[in-house]
Amino acid sequence: MSAPRRNEGDLPSAVSLCRANARLMDALGDIYARIDKRTCGREASCLGGGACCRFDLTAHRLYASTAELAMLSGLDPADPTRCERRRCPYQIGPRCSARSARPLGCRVFFCEKDLDDWCAKLYETFHREIRSLHESLGMPYVYTELTDALSEIFAHSRAADAR
Ligand code: SF4
Repeated sequence: MSAPRRNEGDLPSAVSLCRANARLMDALGDIYARIDKRTCGREASCLGGGACCRFDLTAHRLYASTAELAMLSGLDPADPTRCERRRCPYQIGPRCSARSARPLGCRVFFCEKDLDDWCAKLYETFHREIRSLHESLGMPYVYTELTDALSEIFAHSRAADAR
């Protein structure tokens, strides 16, 4: 999967800008629909009881772009404090409460090791497309770790609500 990168800049503002861009959100939704078509039929197998969304228990980290964060954080998290333990705040028990808005990394992750290469290729292909989408619409592109990013976005939004 792509090397993680965090560009300089104000992440919550960049995410808000992306969320307000209907063309970007619609185009990302179209990309997600195409990803789901490619992975259709493979999503029934969960061997880890949702452990893949508890990043403190696994060796992997989930990265997402600004637009993906914008779509995901537009939904209310089940438990925002889970970010502090490096667990996805949208997970309830073993289940995802944000399936329609889950990022690329969630859509192409499968437990079966023999699918690793297939998943990685799919990730690279669609990640390139998502990055290009930011560029073509002049939107700020940040690529960063999910739980830290969501923590920052939620804190910013709490501070804005308190003003
Ligand atoms: S968005 Fe859903 S699938 Fe992705 S890490 Fe969070 S709970 Fe898991």
